[in-house]
This record gives sequence, structure tokens and C-alpha cells, in this order.
Amino acid sequence: MTSQVSYRSLQTIIVEACQRLPDHRSGQNTRYEISDAALGAFGAFFMQSPSFLAYQRDLQQRKECNNAQSLFGVSEIPSNQQIRNLLDPISPSHLGEPFWAILDQSMKDREIEKAFEYDGGWLCSIDGTQYFGSRSIHCAQCTVAHHEDGESYAHTVLITILAKPGKREVLVLEPEFIRPQDGSVKQDCEQKAAQRWIKRNATHFVGRSVTILADDLHCKQPFCQLLLDHQLDFILTCKEKSHSTLYEEVALLEQCGGVSSYQKRVWTGKGHQLWHYRFAERLPMRAPPYALYVNWCELTITREDTGKQVHHSAFVTNRTVSEHTVEHIIEAGRARWKVENEGNNVLKNHGYYLEHNYGHGHHHLAAILVMLILLAFLCHTVLHLCDHNYQRLRAELGARRTFFNDIRALTRYFYFGSWEHLIAFMINGLELAPGQRGPDWQSKTTCARSPASSISASYGGGYLACEPDRDSATGNLWGDIAVRVDQRRPQSLSTACPSATCSTAKAQPYHPSPPCGWPIFGIAGDDMGSLLSDGRRQCLVE
Ligand SMILES: [Zn+2]
Repeated sequence: MTSQVSYRSLQTIIVEACQRLPDHRSGQNTRYEISDAALGAFGAFFMQSPSFLAYQRDLQQRKECNNAQSLFGVSEIPSNQQIRNLLDPISPSHLGEPFWAILDQSMKDREIEKAFEYDGGWLCSIDGTQYFGSRSIHCAQCTVAHHEDGESYAHTVLITILAKPGKREVLVLEPEFIRPQDGSVKQDCEQKAAQRWIKRNATHFVGRSVTILADDLHCKQPFCQLLLDHQLDFILTCKEKSHSTLYEEVALLEQCGGVSSYQKRVWTGKGHQLWHYRFAERLPMRAPPYALYVNWCELTITREDTGKQVHHSAFVTNRTVSEHTVEHIIEAGRARWKVENEGNNVLKNHGYYLEHNYGHGHHHLAAILVMLILLAFLCHTVLHLCDHNYQRLRAELGARRTFFNDIRALTRYFYFGSWEHLIAFMINGLELAPGQRGPDWQSKTTCARSPASSISASYGGGYLACEPDRDSATGNLWGDIAVRVDQRRPQSLSTACPSATCSTAKAQPYHPSPPCGWPIFGIAGDDMGSLLSDGRRQCLVE
């Protein structure tokens, strides 16, 4: 079954959101739309390439077309400084809606919905992280830290994700920016940001069973009460040093047999571990009166051979804790770490470089760029979950970095009419899924495959060989290239092609058996599905 989610549907959400951004300019200099600035920045983050827009300006000059336009809907490519100037006045709250639109659309895909279902609901993990830091540059939105040798300034954001134990991918939700409250001397803090996020976004979860996961910092009675008031469940890390009343009660219950416990022997592949579970119900979050009563559970893991403790975690929850549920609850609670391991770690260390100072601006620049980075991360995750071609490619290329290196290089030299064409080009270049190709195409792959270095050379002097059909006339990728090659070098098609009649700029008759050694650069159709199913043949040869 084809997924309802596709690059195109995600792009539509992003483009429409960027087109709705307010324009604060009053002067005449409005050559660039605000949406061009936002989509251009989104494109650079999506490609994980700070130079993406510069490359596309070069491509536009050389080929009169560019991938910023075809892949991201940028009409006129602004410079990085123009992007900073245009986006700085815009509040990041204007880009909150597409996170929820993408989530709604993703959950219509049964595969994605199942991928995040845990105990019939969702696990939502929250954690604060820094995305800008400086000892000199600062603004009204900065959080200030006082040191012996002066002050440091930082921007921090509360990242929220949907996660599932055992699932590597996480879906990032709209974040909450941590900032000094208006009119307040006191610095804002992560706890307040978490409360704001819940109050603002709980309506998105109506009708679903959602459990909030958070660390000990948020394990406070007012936050638990707020979650209950919004019909949200919680599993929160609960450390002994910050919850003395609760742990005194645990100790008392222990003496009278009120704490249940059991032990499991677990084989890790290297040795046996002992997993010791303890749990109790109805414990006070703080000293009475007015204490909220919660349930508590704990897991301690030790090595069987040495007795050494290798893990300890403890949580409080409003969910029922029993010997039937305790393992699930602790497994869910431990998924909180995914916001750091699979969320913030990827955002900071694997291509998105969340902490890199792309620009601070005078108003909201740093924050709105974070929104675009998170949206780029979200779109890649959703594609990874729903797009089988994307999955095949990522699996084949292994390291995340290889995939992004390849799309950066390809889009620097080649024009692609759509994201689907780029992915199809890569899949065919790697000769993936050979069983799905038509017989004619398979026979052609006996020709040598192009080394990457000759791609750009062939781009100017190659010609298009394809079946004479409507594709080139309707402007698909290879048709466009043929036309452009012909415009730049009117004779190149006819002189380079030994067999076809190349008197026009339209697509040329398909060469049934290209001479041995001609590199084939790829195939493309209106979309990959129709190409594979009806076996239409197109290839770019040198
Ligand atoms: Zn600042």
C-alpha cells in the first residue's frame, strides 16, 4: 500500500507555513519574499549543507535552473545575510503549526502510527538543550549565567519528541523556547517552559492516551498535577536526593512488607545480569498536607558474576504499578533518554549542528532557525519511516554522513526536477532492487556505470536517450536537461549522438543498445512507480 505521506506532502505543509509568515517590511526593497528566506534556510538544513544556496545560485547561472526552486520552492535565492535580515523579526511561534500538521499526516500512515504505539498510546519525552552560547553576543531572549569572570549568554530550548522503546527513530514535536519571562527579573527555567508547553499543546493529544516522560527536574507535584488536569499520564525520573519524603515512605513500607519486589536473570550475549524490580503504590510526592499520591517503581541491574551494579533507575507514575505492568512502565520511563540520544545528539552531532551559531540576530533569528532545523530533522525522520525508496537508500549507504555527502554533491552539479527524481537517480546509480526493473533496463546495465567525477562533464555535453513519449514535453527531469543542453550547445546533440536524429530539443528516440562503455547516468520518469511498473526506458548517456 502506498503511504499517504510523501516528500511532496511534507513540502506542501512547509511551503504553506512559510508563505503565511508575517512580513514586517515597510520599504520598497522587497525583491525576496519572506517565504524564500525561510524555505532557503530550511533547504540548507534539510540538505545539511551551509553552502547549498550558494551552489544553487551557481547552478542557476550555469544551467538556468536550480534545486532550491525544484526541491524546496524557493523562487529567488537570497544570500545568507539576506536570510538573517528577513527572518530576524519573525517570532518562532509562527512555525509551530507545521509540526502538528506533519504529525497528523504521519499518523494517517498505519505503519508510522504502529511504530510509535506503546501500550495503546504515545510516549512523549521532554528535555531542555542549549542551541546558542556566547560570552559577548546577547539579546533580550538570552538566558544569562553569572560567573566569577563575567557573564555568559545562552539560548535554550525544550525539545519534545515521540519515542518508543526499541525504536531508533523519534518524531520531534513543536519545541518550547526557554527565555526570561516578560517583565520578570527571574530567569525563566526549564520547568516553566515545560508547563507552558503542556498548557499550549495538550489539546493536540485529545482522544489519545499520552504519557509524558521527563527527568527528575520535572518530577514535582505541580507539574504532575498539571499533567493530570490535562488528562496526560506521566512516568518521571524520581531520585532519592530530591524526593526525601517519598523515599522515607518507601523505607517505612519496606519494613512492613509494603514494597513488592522480584528478580529476573537476563542473558546479555556476554554474560548474565540480575534485574531487580521494586515497586509500591500510593506514595506522597511531598510532605502532607495537600500531597499528591503517586506510584513508584525501581530497577537495579547487577552483573551476576561480579555483583557490580551497572544500572539503576526509579520513576513515579500515575499509572497502575503491579507485577504485570512494572516492566513496561520502567521500559517506557527509560525511553526518556531517547530525547538525548536520538534527538539532541543527532541534532547536535550528526549533520544538523544545532549548537552551531548560524546567527543570533537582534530579535528571533536564532530561535526561528532552530524551528527550521527541527522541521528538517522531522521531515527526514518521517521519510525514513514511510518512504521505502528512502529506506533502501539509507540502508545501502550505511552512515548518515554518506547519504548527505551524496545528495550535497549531486545537487551541486545536477538539476533534479523533484526529490523523487533525486532519490530515483541514486537508487538506480547504486543498482538497488534489481528485481523490480524492466528487462530492457537490466540489459542496459551491462554498460559501465559512470564514475561520479564525470557527472558534471557529461551534464554539458551529454544527450538524452529515451523513448519518444510525452515525458520530456511535460518537463520531467531528463527532458529538461535535454532542452537545456540543446540551448547551450545547439550542435551537441546531433554531433554527440551517433544513432538518433537530434534535430530538435525534444527527447530523442531511445537507443536500443548503447555502445559498450557508454556510462548510464540514471533513469527517470514522472515517478518511480510508473517507471518500474510499465518499464518505460530513459537514460542519460555520454
Ligand atoms: Zn540572545
